[in-house]
Amino acid sequence: MAETVEQIEEILKDSHLPALMCAMVQMTGDTDWLKSEWTPVYNPLSRGDTGIPEAEQAQIRKRAAAAIHAYLGGRPLALQNPATDILRRQMDFVAGAAIPEQYVDFLVDELSLKGRSSKEPHFEAPQVQAAARRMKVLVIGAGMSGLLTGIRLSQAGVPFEIVDKNPDVGGTWFENTYPGCRVDNSNHMYSYSFEPNHAWPQHFSPQPVLLEYFRGIAAKYDLKKHIRFETLVETLAWDEARSVWRATLKGKDGKTEVVEANAVVTAVGQLNRPRFPEIEGMGTFEGPAFHSAEWRHDVDLTGKKVIVIGTGASAYQFVPEIAPKVEHLTVFQRTPPWGLPVPHYHEDVPEGMKWTLEHVPYYDKWYRFWLFWMTTEGFLPMVKSDPLWNGGPGAVSEMNAGLRDMAIASFSAQLADRPDLLPKVTPNYPVGGKRAVLDNGVWLAALKRDNVDLVTDRIARVTPKGVVTADGKEYEADVLIYGTGFQASNFLSFLKVKGRGGRDLHESWGGDARAYLGITHPGFPNFFTIYGPNTNIVVNGSIIFFSECAVRYIVGALKLLAETGAAAMEPKASVYDEFNKRVDEANAGWAWGSPHVSSWYKNQFGRVSQNWPFGLIDYWKATLAPNPDDYVLEREKAPA
Ligand code: NAP
Repeated sequence: MAETVEQIEEILKDSHLPALMCAMVQMTGDTDWLKSEWTPVYNPLSRGDTGIPEAEQAQIRKRAAAAIHAYLGGRPLALQNPATDILRRQMDFVAGAAIPEQYVDFLVDELSLKGRSSKEPHFEAPQVQAAARRMKVLVIGAGMSGLLTGIRLSQAGVPFEIVDKNPDVGGTWFENTYPGCRVDNSNHMYSYSFEPNHAWPQHFSPQPVLLEYFRGIAAKYDLKKHIRFETLVETLAWDEARSVWRATLKGKDGKTEVVEANAVVTAVGQLNRPRFPEIEGMGTFEGPAFHSAEWRHDVDLTGKKVIVIGTGASAYQFVPEIAPKVEHLTVFQRTPPWGLPVPHYHEDVPEGMKWTLEHVPYYDKWYRFWLFWMTTEGFLPMVKSDPLWNGGPGAVSEMNAGLRDMAIASFSAQLADRPDLLPKVTPNYPVGGKRAVLDNGVWLAALKRDNVDLVTDRIARVTPKGVVTADGKEYEADVLIYGTGFQASNFLSFLKVKGRGGRDLHESWGGDARAYLGITHPGFPNFFTIYGPNTNIVVNGSIIFFSECAVRYIVGALKLLAETGAAAMEPKASVYDEFNKRVDEANAGWAWGSPHVSSWYKNQFGRVSQNWPFGLIDYWKATLAPNPDDYVLEREKAPA
């Protein structure tokens, strides 16, 4: 049954009005929706309250409801493709302020209002298509980045095979099934730019929903026929004579097989190998002991005494879930996480919002655009180090200290009845030094429970019965859970890669993994890494954006090979060195580069090997297409 104008008016109470008004410009062709007095004023810590007075909001909804009703009744859209000046006004309006000129191309591309984006491959020339068809690409990983690579290679007409160690797609969203696991980026942005989901049940949906999304993508793009599951790629060796990679694959049955490919793309993420701490006596614990990324669903925690080691992003999500079930929970914390208030972290997306996303053309794009722009810089200015700052190691700038004060005020308010906990849960490192968690109150509420203890004494050893701290106190438990993170800086530790001249990738890294733009490696032709060294983000954007940029670049590299007839390409060592120098210098200027912070962002040498130290726009620009001058292209060998 079609909705009445009044019903639509009611539905629109759930919509983000500035995004709706931009959509209305296109529905009606009228630009007076963008009245200056209606320009939103955002509170950076709210979910998008706009500051538009309620009476005006009602007026906007009434007018929009009439327009939507007419559209649903058959009136055509007035403006599918707004002229540049209108588009620019829409962008500024939804952002609440004039967007600096240097961002415009980047944002227009991300918005892809006309359904076109720089991230789609264009292999139009027949000779390029023919060359592309003769290639074979091996993709390692069928998670978010691997599926994306498959989609783009299909679109480019490049044959490929994807290999994954797991029995299903989804990568991290397949592996991490611990209670409470969910995304910490707004879902309407944490999705492929070209595959919106209007039905996300929550703003930050739980893991099973994310897994379904990626399964749906694999089905929609018919990718499963390209995927070998439960197979490990163990070695890669570059055959110089023939310019191909020879990959040894090991199946579930233990049998190995060698396959060849012109190019290899690793899409295995940075957080795919659980890290167990090195604590004396670890193997002696008599009860079940497992890592959060290998959750034992067969172990019923109800009524059990449980120990959790670690208080990072994973523990932060599962501790509040298991605390009410267990008899007693002891949480061992070495370093507390910063929490930034996000009250709607666990809230459902209102039904009216879903309706509007589904029925009002371009509303989804403008809503995503708003989320994207808000996180393009995000908290970056607040975590930038000020070299003149002399306010102590707990902050890196005055602004950073302000953010710290705000977070502490939020902690204090939550702990009004337990002030004893405040010093324990307040980090002594700057906000942004590690991944901050989204705080809607459930973490501290869990720590305040009568059956939960937060222990900050150093763990001395694990015993058959539990954990002993440095002061000799023993904490007994039936189950031990490690929320101790991943071997993040141990890039590609599962893979032996022999490049040109038999050069070993891990030996060349010497434990200090680097890449050019996180993607290419001198001495390793046609070897590409997605979410590789120095491409992680801490307080801004979504990693899907990074993967989309990296895949665009990789497909661009394949196009370059197809266009030039070259058999292989690798970055010039000088380009790689210069890039890495710039990365290291820049990383030192952020909270995560502070010498007062240790985190998974730094490797064994203390170098920040994980994070991208520039803006999103810089990655977008740098990955538009490979610059041939940055590369050594190897001409096609004449047939023997
Ligand atoms: P993590 O952030 O690396 O946290 C590991 C925790 O274990 C830290 O609290 C660490 O303390 C502690 N730990 C390690 N070794 C220890 C030892 N020997 N004794 C005591 N404590 C020890 O790992 P994670 O929580 O799995 O998160 C990793 C990353 O995954 C996150 O930063 C985030 O990027 C991603 N993630 C995202 C989500 C999401 O919301 N979507 C959820 C989970 C994870 P120290 O801090 O002192 O080292």
